[in-house]
Amino acid sequence: MKADEIEEAVAWRRDLHRHPELAFEEHRTADFVARMLASFGLKVSTGLAGTGVVGTLTRGSSARSIGIRADMDALPIEELGAAPYKSLHPGKMHACGHDGHVTMLLAAARACAESGQFDGTVHFIFQPAEESEGGGWRMVEDGLFKSFPCDAVYGLHNWPSLPVGSCVARDTAMMAALGIFEIVIEGRGSHGAMPHEGVDPIVAACELGASLQTVVSRNVSPLEPAVVSITQIHAGDAWNVIPASCTLRGTTRWFDNAVGDLIETRLMALANSVADGFGCKATIRYERRYPPTINDPVEAAFIRSVASAQDGIRVEDVAPSMAAEDFSFMLEARPGCYLWLGSGRTGSDPGLHSPYFDFNDEIIPLGVDLWRSVVETKLAVA
Ligand SMILES: [Zn+2]
Ligand SMILES: [Zn+2]
Repeated sequence: MKADEIEEAVAWRRDLHRHPELAFEEHRTADFVARMLASFGLKVSTGLAGTGVVGTLTRGSSARSIGIRADMDALPIEELGAAPYKSLHPGKMHACGHDGHVTMLLAAARACAESGQFDGTVHFIFQPAEESEGGGWRMVEDGLFKSFPCDAVYGLHNWPSLPVGSCVARDTAMMAALGIFEIVIEGRGSHGAMPHEGVDPIVAACELGASLQTVVSRNVSPLEPAVVSITQIHAGDAWNVIPASCTLRGTTRWFDNAVGDLIETRLMALANSVADGFGCKATIRYERRYPPTINDPVEAAFIRSVASAQDGIRVEDVAPSMAAEDFSFMLEARPGCYLWLGSGRTGSDPGLHSPYFDFNDEIIPLGVDLWRSVVETKLAVA
């Protein structure tokens, strides 16, 4: 990338950062993306999964085609950093760097449109609602790969826990599957001084909270990664009133489907039996939201070979993450590769989803050149 192109891309990124939009509300972002893609000469399709945008670029006569995806949504977090371009919208911010992902893919689309040497079709895919709401799933359901056939699909995430220029593209597992649960324990409220006159849901919830720790420690094999985390407990309003109900919420993570089945079965059994043992009733909502993010080994090797040939990028191998990613739905539908691009600043650098997070603009040229090389290598002119 030339210096003036980098400067312009940084300005896009900071403008997107100033205007964060939550899942399926990315109207301004989608308008900006569609306008820019059209100005670069791409064929633009809007409306897929609501706010999704696809820009298509064809060169030559080859029938080969690939897709590259960026996520557009922000998070419901109040930004606490001091950047001059901080969020203008209270309670919303780009705390995961999707502003940077959009910028890098847009700049790559422009580079490919202006001077890309390739033979085939590239679909630049901008998806809504990556953060827990499954915009990637909706794009696939809405016919993404029927309307825009892709032989392979690629996506990346900035990774602040790795130094700038590190690139990780593992052969299979990158990120875990994600489940969520809500358990409402109903008892019977009473005066706090007369617990024997009621049925205490809080005591049952405390026991259940401890019991749920045994799913990973006693049921799942020690050789299999798994997480059960209770992240919310809600009950009661007064010093001296035992409430009628208590709600526990949390998240589960796994890679292997059989482990996912086991976690769900044990969580249901413990919730029902512990509640029952205390004379309460449990109502359980359990949803498997995202499958694991699993790369195709051939496509992962392709990404590593492209990345290792690029100045400023070093290929590394680190353990997969127990965080989740809805690019998993695209990888279930098509072979492809999800990669991490290191973006850590020196010194203390706030991580993803921190209210102080700010995408590191230093990696913009690395990401743009990487996407361009992916296009020019995968769709090389014969
Ligand atoms: Zn995130
Ligand atoms: Zn993210």
